[in-house]
Amino acid sequence: MNIDIPTRSPLPRTADDTILPFEVAALDLRGRVVRLGPALDEILTRHNYPLPVSKLLGEAVALAALFGSSLKFDGRFIMQTQGDGPVRMLVVDYVTGGRIRACARFDKARVADAIAAGTASGGELLGRGHLAMTIDQGSDMNRYQGLVALEGGGLEQAAHEYFLRSEQIPTRVRLAVAEEMRKGDSGVTHWRAGGIMLQFLPEAPERMRMPDLDPGDVPEGVTLDMVPEDDAWVEGKALVETVEDIELIDPDISTERLVYRLFHERGVRVFDSANVEAQCSCSRDNVEAMLQSFSQDDRDHMVEDGKIAVTCEFCNRTYDFAPGEVGAHDSGASETGAN
Ligand SMILES: [Zn+2]
Repeated sequence: MNIDIPTRSPLPRTADDTILPFEVAALDLRGRVVRLGPALDEILTRHNYPLPVSKLLGEAVALAALFGSSLKFDGRFIMQTQGDGPVRMLVVDYVTGGRIRACARFDKARVADAIAAGTASGGELLGRGHLAMTIDQGSDMNRYQGLVALEGGGLEQAAHEYFLRSEQIPTRVRLAVAEEMRKGDSGVTHWRAGGIMLQFLPEAPERMRMPDLDPGDVPEGVTLDMVPEDDAWVEGKALVETVEDIELIDPDISTERLVYRLFHERGVRVFDSANVEAQCSCSRDNVEAMLQSFSQDDRDHMVEDGKIAVTCEFCNRTYDFAPGEVGAHDSGASETGAN
């Protein structure tokens, strides 16, 4: 029986907030492209961080979407940085199905100084520290965590290191974030981001040899065999490095056109795309349960202007409680202050 795989031309446009997986069988390459519009705009606009911090968090959101959507699991994927740079921490939470939330913690004065000095690139803002990836599949399942050092490079570089060391999969990632100004929108800008992740996954594992492993990892007495990288991976890597920021961000360059531009000579197959949406998992019930875990005395100290106000760090939503409300058995209060 002859099974024909249908072929068609690339679509002219891409829906925003989607992730498109693809495969280049001839080169043993798999990858995915993420395009973020309204979802990222909602996350970044709610926070209104300084520009370079927004941009960096946008890259982290695109990376977490690429990575989180490639994992076969049900639950939460958490990507977190911790560093000694002006941006102390970035957290992106990706829940199976594509719900995403994100926030940053940073030192305002140091970020302002970095902007003034022109040293506000992603790598400079993060400084030295680590990037952690955690998979949380619920209370009775193991949390899996991978760690990679941040050494002054940006998130792309940290991602390459992570896949090289933790997963041993040759990987290249490109990320881009920008503000888009639309005609007739009188100066209002919208955040957009795009990213591509390419991985080399041959059936024969010896083809995945990576000559750039740190010689420090080699046990004493073992000489490092400096084998060249596989030709297919050399070609794939070179192609993905030609991707320009504009190709990742511009809504008029569709994801399929981008993938076709890169790999049409080898033949590329695309799969069903997945969606991403900005959605926080906080709720009034969760916040109340958190407040209930404090002592009455602690709660009394939280009262300001006659109420306890708790703001979610991820989405900036504020939940107000009357002083006696938490701890009482049937609070029955209606939600206030939520937006
Ligand atoms: Zn929230």
